[in-house]
Amino acid sequence: MTYGEELKEKLFSKKTNGWLKLSDELKKEIFDYNDNYMKFLNESKTEREIVTSAKKIAEENGFKDINEVEHLNVGDKVYYINKEKSMYLAVIGEEKMENGVNIIGSHADSPRLDLKPNPVYEDQELAYFKTHYYGGIKKYQWTTIPLSIHGVIIKENGEKVTIKIGEDENDPIFTITDLLPHLAVEQQNSKLREAIKGKDLNLLVGSIPFDEDISENVKLNLLNILNKKYGIVEKDFSSAELEVVPAYKARTQGFDESMVAGYGQDDKVCVYTSLTAMMQLKNIKKTAVCIIADKEEIGSMGNTGMQSQAFDTFMSYLLNKTGENRVNLLEKVYCNSKMLSADVDAAVDPIYASVSDKMNAGYLGYGIALNKYTGAGGKYDASDANAEYIAEVKGIFDKNNIKYQVSELGEVDIGGGGTIAYILANKGIDVIDCGVPVLCMHSPYEVTSKYDVYTAYKAYQAFWNA
Ligand code: MN
Ligand code: MN
Repeated sequence: MTYGEELKEKLFSKKTNGWLKLSDELKKEIFDYNDNYMKFLNESKTEREIVTSAKKIAEENGFKDINEVEHLNVGDKVYYINKEKSMYLAVIGEEKMENGVNIIGSHADSPRLDLKPNPVYEDQELAYFKTHYYGGIKKYQWTTIPLSIHGVIIKENGEKVTIKIGEDENDPIFTITDLLPHLAVEQQNSKLREAIKGKDLNLLVGSIPFDEDISENVKLNLLNILNKKYGIVEKDFSSAELEVVPAYKARTQGFDESMVAGYGQDDKVCVYTSLTAMMQLKNIKKTAVCIIADKEEIGSMGNTGMQSQAFDTFMSYLLNKTGENRVNLLEKVYCNSKMLSADVDAAVDPIYASVSDKMNAGYLGYGIALNKYTGAGGKYDASDANAEYIAEVKGIFDKNNIKYQVSELGEVDIGGGGTIAYILANKGIDVIDCGVPVLCMHSPYEVTSKYDVYTAYKAYQAFWNA
């Protein structure tokens, strides 16, 4: 080696692909872990289903509902479910919470189409459900793909009907139609974002008329089927939360089977990796807290979003039940606490590489991505992590041989994004975004690297064990 080469080796930062020089054993562990991750994705496509699955996993690992626990001791494991759509979990550490807790927070909601309160109509003897899209979607991606309907309907008598249709092989699916190319000259000449209008994202759900010469008989036949199947009438739709999501399953992608393609990986990948990491914790020093938030994709508002007071309530429960609480202690706990905002990063897509700064972007297969800041247009609205804190997190990862990359979401002035990071940072907590790089984020079929998914699981464990 020449002196220059030696010096370069010493001074330049170097990134390597995570798949290089992996043992067969570790590779198998990565693939096995991802098989379970894909199963989790297939069973839980909405925030309600995520909370149900997470509760099951937590209970199997000895977690108890905090409402049923009077006193908390070191090593105790509890969860709190907020209106069936968001969830917090904790493992009580040896140290007092006053010294700070270690938090990892992800979100369970993903972009989708929600049914409108009055969705049912008939046009030209075809029956439809109207939708209003949820979160940032590219509307054209949601036409002509198989869709399923998930959610709940609360009937007049208070009975809650749970709906999940389109997932089983024997279920019918639904689609949103699009124009044939032969007649789409005008549509194809329009701007991509205007070619499919939000108001036209209507789900085709029926075409057989009720067997009687009567107006709206296709709608009548549909409502009759729904009444027999679910015991509902049309006005019940106005007290419902019905979400339209891709019906297809998460699958392994690539000849080398290195990737996961699946709906809702933003941010269910961080939900699964942080949740399963928490299940492995034993004898930890600081109390570990896991957040599974709702409504991140629409600004974290509402009583299941991260802006709600509900998280403070959970933290107060922990302080009360460990017997540690006193006036204004929660504020101090926050100022001493550390957090990984576990949310996905935009991976460099070589086909659209110009939107990324290749020196400051996340890559598939290069491990977990730390985003110092998000925001847009001059870091506007960003939670910008402190240098000292980043050094601390990097130190934890280095010590535990966790492969990580430090990146930002997109080239300057191209766009940007946000997570729940700023909400916790505003409480005084040290926060950095830390998650899995994703290709085609917010599309009905997002792509991740199995290596990065597994690395996130290991990274979150290391953070809580530090
Ligand atoms: Mn996200
Ligand atoms: Mn998102």
